[in-house]
Amino acid sequence: MTRDIKSIISQMTLEEKAGLCSGLDFWHTKSVLRLGIPSIMVTDGPHGLRKQSGESDHLGLNCSVPATCFPSGATLAASWDRSLIEKVGIALGEECQAEDVSILLGPAANIKRSPLCGRNFEYFSEDPYLSSQMAASHIKGVQSQGVGTSLKHFAVNNQEHRRLSINAIIDERTLREIYLSSFESAVKQSKPWTVMCAYNKINGNYCSENEYLLTSILKKEWGHEGFIMSDWGAVNERVDGLKAGLELEMPSSNGLGDRKIVEAVRNKSLSEDVLDKAVERSLGIIFKAVDNKKENYIFDKEEHHKLARQVARECMVLLKNEENILPLKKEGNIAIIGAFAKKPRYQGGGSSHINPTKLDNVLEKIKESAGTNCNISYSEGFSLISDDIYENLVDQAKSAASQSQVVVIFAGLPDRYESEGYDRTHMRIPENQINLIHEIAKVQKNIVVVLSNGSPIEMPWISNARGVLEGYIGGQAAGGAIADLLFGSFSPCGKLAETFPQKLSDNPSYLNFPGEGDVVEYKEGLFVGYRYYDKKDLQTLFPFGHGLSYTSFEYSDISIDKKEMFDNETLNIKVKIKNTGKITGKEIVQLYIKDVESTVIRPEKELRAFEKIELNPGQEKIITFILGKRAFAYYNVEIKDWHVDSGAFELLVGASSNDIKIKEVINVKSTVVIKKKFSRNSTLGDIMNDPNGKKTAESLMKDIFGEENESEDDLGTNMRTMFKDFVLRSMITFSGGKFTQEMMELLIEKLNEN
Ligand code: BGC
Repeated sequence: MTRDIKSIISQMTLEEKAGLCSGLDFWHTKSVLRLGIPSIMVTDGPHGLRKQSGESDHLGLNCSVPATCFPSGATLAASWDRSLIEKVGIALGEECQAEDVSILLGPAANIKRSPLCGRNFEYFSEDPYLSSQMAASHIKGVQSQGVGTSLKHFAVNNQEHRRLSINAIIDERTLREIYLSSFESAVKQSKPWTVMCAYNKINGNYCSENEYLLTSILKKEWGHEGFIMSDWGAVNERVDGLKAGLELEMPSSNGLGDRKIVEAVRNKSLSEDVLDKAVERSLGIIFKAVDNKKENYIFDKEEHHKLARQVARECMVLLKNEENILPLKKEGNIAIIGAFAKKPRYQGGGSSHINPTKLDNVLEKIKESAGTNCNISYSEGFSLISDDIYENLVDQAKSAASQSQVVVIFAGLPDRYESEGYDRTHMRIPENQINLIHEIAKVQKNIVVVLSNGSPIEMPWISNARGVLEGYIGGQAAGGAIADLLFGSFSPCGKLAETFPQKLSDNPSYLNFPGEGDVVEYKEGLFVGYRYYDKKDLQTLFPFGHGLSYTSFEYSDISIDKKEMFDNETLNIKVKIKNTGKITGKEIVQLYIKDVESTVIRPEKELRAFEKIELNPGQEKIITFILGKRAFAYYNVEIKDWHVDSGAFELLVGASSNDIKIKEVINVKSTVVIKKKFSRNSTLGDIMNDPNGKKTAESLMKDIFGEENESEDDLGTNMRTMFKDFVLRSMITFSGGKFTQEMMELLIEKLNEN
């Protein structure tokens, strides 16, 4: 339906317009019925609906209507599967339609800076490209159903500690290349109806009133057309927020924010035009939601549960599989140990906490899959509510383990270890679980550990386990998915979207997390996750992109459609992948780029493309990657744009960041010349590197040192090298009068000429 939004706004009173800039209550926008403006509902998000029909809260405390609980963000990202996540989005959109929810609060695309962040289970990755691709697919799916999303938490919200007051100090290049990139292509590709600003400050400025972030970057540069809402309670000064580009304050501020806006317009400290534009953006989305509403919509709960199982199965990551202990044989005695087998940890705590439509019991699913030739026993092994070691539980588990051919231990992080609202302080699982694994290892060698956790853990027990399946936080059908994988009905095909360091102190943010008082400095800069471990050549427990399969793949025949290109062209890369094993499986093929010689500090390599493909035994397929300028570029803070340093780049194709199988080299030439500004404080080296300055600087060096010759002694060479770092003005002193003030001024003028 077409409406004249401008004309509607012209009929609104100042109070009505200000009213539209904050929520009616916890979950609704306000209506202006006399002008046909309805109220719409927004609801968490991101991996299921938390629609509260009774008491409201933003911490997941009160009850919500039953909804399918899909695997959480951390889990979904391990699928590296755009179409799978889109399917989840579609299902979520359908549930929103059925529940009359217009906007789903998610996905959450914050970068995993530290493994300790309490909300890592909701976030996708430590890598901005992977994260934004996952977010883009989620948005695409949900919005295809006529339901909006709210991409959150924009931006640099990478810890829970003091999240409402923390000031993240970050340099511009890191902000652009890591933290904003994670949102950028999600916004550009999938156009979320709304974006949610984060609680924290960036470089001293609250995100909720950060014009650079909300207007200059998000709206003007990236073209965000919808509105921006605040995180729940993130508004500091309402009028400043509105001026910066924040249209909607959530939840209701009980009239306070609205009154401030009215007052500001009246006393002329806020232009009414700014208010009108904000209302226009909000109404655009509110009407879009209304126009896309499907009346009396119903979704198929069973189908969604089935999808949740498929999704969980395709996300879980087989970390270790010594002597092919997995898949399990459907015979003999199998001891299932660990309280999680009966009480699975399938979702995280806080605002994303869902009331599932049904919940798989892992033990039952295992029994179903194992069939009748198998004897399955269960022992609790440890308590979930306390970390104390109960000897009786350990003894029972040991006795079952000693009478079995294989043991599957369900371990992980209990709910109280990991939640929105606080960060972890260490990366260990509870002591009683570590002790249990060590004790079981005394009586049984065939140990498989299945983990439920939302973020990486240390594994001091890893040598005791032959197999480790990272189940992550697998949603309501995780039980069925685990059974599918344990018994080999399907081959595992997830890969890590984050690095598992050997120990917490290896993590690059370790020295500066969670900060001092209200300040956290991102001193590791660009070197987040594998970018750091790679550069430092540090052994990790499991690298970024790692994940095993029950089959094997061969990479061959890499080819590129050109050997040289300008940065405004695109490059096609082809690679052949073959399933060389005996069963059908999926492989995630990763393409990293390495800038061979760079004038700026860059990571060893960065993920720039990936594809997931399914192959039957013996089948092969050719994958094509298409890369443009951005794949080779870094963010240049001088020109405030993405820039390619001309030269060679390696195209590294592999099965993980640490398992590069095949590579090629391309020469990329920049079409942008960055003009350097020279001054009396420019170094001779810099001048020599400039095409205009090269000759002059060389002749200056010649005047001082004489002609360079092959037999020059070390002292001569050293002098030349040292002088490259000398500044121009110092040559007046060191040239013994050959280089004068006037000559210097002329030279600078010439250098800066064109
Ligand atoms: C969270 C958001 C959530 C909102 C509403 C906030 O505390 O940070 O992610 O969408 O509450 O529940």
